[in-house]
Amino acid sequence: MLYASGQRLSNTNIPQHEFGIDHCRGMATDMMVADGGVKTTAGEPIAEWVMNHASSLSLEYVMWGQRIWHHGQDSVKPWSQWRYQSCTVIPNCVNGDRGDNTANHWDHVHVSYR
Ligand SMILES: [Zn+2]
Repeated sequence: MLYASGQRLSNTNIPQHEFGIDHCRGMATDMMVADGGVKTTAGEPIAEWVMNHASSLSLEYVMWGQRIWHHGQDSVKPWSQWRYQSCTVIPNCVNGDRGDNTANHWDHVHVSYR
C-alpha cells in the first residue's frame, strides 16, 4: 500500500466511515509505524502523545491498536484504557477487531482533526 503526505493512495482495507469522511476531506493523517499490515507496538507512545496534545492539534480523535480516544469525550488516560474502536458493521466483532492489522490500526496511528 502506498502513502503520501499522510494520506492513503489506495482505499484497500480502510473502513468506509474513516476513508469517506476524514481522509477524503483532508481532515486525517495516517502515521505509519510499520510496513502495511505488520503489527507493532511502536504506535502506542505516538498515540498517547497525540492525545496529550489534542488541543494544539485540533484533534477530533486518534485510533491505535483497536482503540479510539475522542477529544472532548474521553478523559486523558493510558492507551490501554481507551475504548475499543467501532466495528458494528462487521459480523461477530469483538473488542474492536475489524479483521486485519491495518483495519485494526496496528500498523499506523490514525489521527482525525476538527
Ligand atoms: Zn486513517
